[in-house]
Amino acid sequence: RSSAASDVYKRQYIYHILKTFEELGVAAPILKAIQEMGYESPMPVQEEVIPFLLGDDNDVIALAQTGTGKTAAFGLPILQKIDVTTYHPQALVLCPTRELCLQIADDLNDYSKYIDNLKVLPVYGGSSIESQIKTLKRGVHVVVATPGRLLDLMNRKTVDLSLVKNVIMDEADEMLNMGFREDIESVLAQIPEERQTVLFSATMPPAILAITKQYQKEPVLVQIQSAHRTVDAIAQFSVSVPMGRKTDALQLLLLSKQPKSAMIFCNTKKMVDELTEALCLRGFSAAGLHGDMKQLQRTQVMNGFKSGRNTILIATDVAARGIDVKGVDAVFNYDLPQDHEYYIHRIGRTGRAGKTGAAYNILSGRKQEMEMREISRYTKADITEIPVPTSKEL
Ligand code: AMP
Repeated sequence: RSSAASDVYKRQYIYHILKTFEELGVAAPILKAIQEMGYESPMPVQEEVIPFLLGDDNDVIALAQTGTGKTAAFGLPILQKIDVTTYHPQALVLCPTRELCLQIADDLNDYSKYIDNLKVLPVYGGSSIESQIKTLKRGVHVVVATPGRLLDLMNRKTVDLSLVKNVIMDEADEMLNMGFREDIESVLAQIPEERQTVLFSATMPPAILAITKQYQKEPVLVQIQSAHRTVDAIAQFSVSVPMGRKTDALQLLLLSKQPKSAMIFCNTKKMVDELTEALCLRGFSAAGLHGDMKQLQRTQVMNGFKSGRNTILIATDVAARGIDVKGVDAVFNYDLPQDHEYYIHRIGRTGRAGKTGAAYNILSGRKQEMEMREISRYTKADITEIPVPTSKEL
């Protein structure tokens, strides 16, 4: 099965590597940076979106999920268009969470490593507004912001968006889900109409259509079929265990598969805390991430995981949304997600950018086994039942 799956993956990919970044119009200093990062050829969303953004004319709606390479799709062209001699924000990226905000800013900094003096500022709630104001005063070129905090800065007249030429809305559907609609509208209303507005969204609910109608001019629609492709590249397994034995099963799976880095998903904050404690007590290097934690703590946990200090990250869907960690080689569903789309989001953390990964679902009871079958039908994925490894085997 896995070879058939990788065939599908390759075929789709080959189809898209006809163009190089250079041919898409990406300039030398950025090419140098991404080459060093190991980007050899553009991913489909990049091939589609970069030419539009390097030209000034078209607004774009891109239907693409995390893991498809969308950050570079908008990041490379907006950075390239910045006039570094003008210390005013010229590009604005709106995104739903602090984590995503920091991650996008990090990526933009990596891409612009060889463009002298280019300044990117992440702006998000839960951190000191004074220091953000100070940095704004010194002058920045790109602002990456969560809508609430940006509006706060705009109301205090500490950020000037009058020279913004590019607006990117990343994970637009999620921003609406999180109740940012009015904030987004207030922000957009205050940016000059002579701009290019690009919207990225995983789904296209009516509320998104309404936003695009009102704030975009004749947008081009770019659709990237990522979900099934992502799922295809990932080997998926399930184990069934008696009630109350999930943690034991997880321990045995971790010991037998030995992932170098793994993400474990739970449905509640309480479960994240309990499981983190349980795994730590059993000697694993695990850390938990959920929405009730202080920002500083969340940043520490993320950094610990990214740097490899902790090999296991235990998270809820909301806390993990949009987070991109390289080289996660296994995803475990300790609880199955309530929403089938989330299943795709979760397991998409592994098997990124051409790498293969594995996902393990831990089930207990008939109800969960039935849910698993439904998810498998919905995602059109083969999920192979495997036995729990025995301690003897280990
Ligand atoms: P994103 O969808 O922006 O979260 O990107 C998913 C992952 O793909 C990130 O780890 C990127 O660094 C990586 N990536 C993006 N573009 C490329 C590319 N052209 N070649 C290889 N990796 C890439």
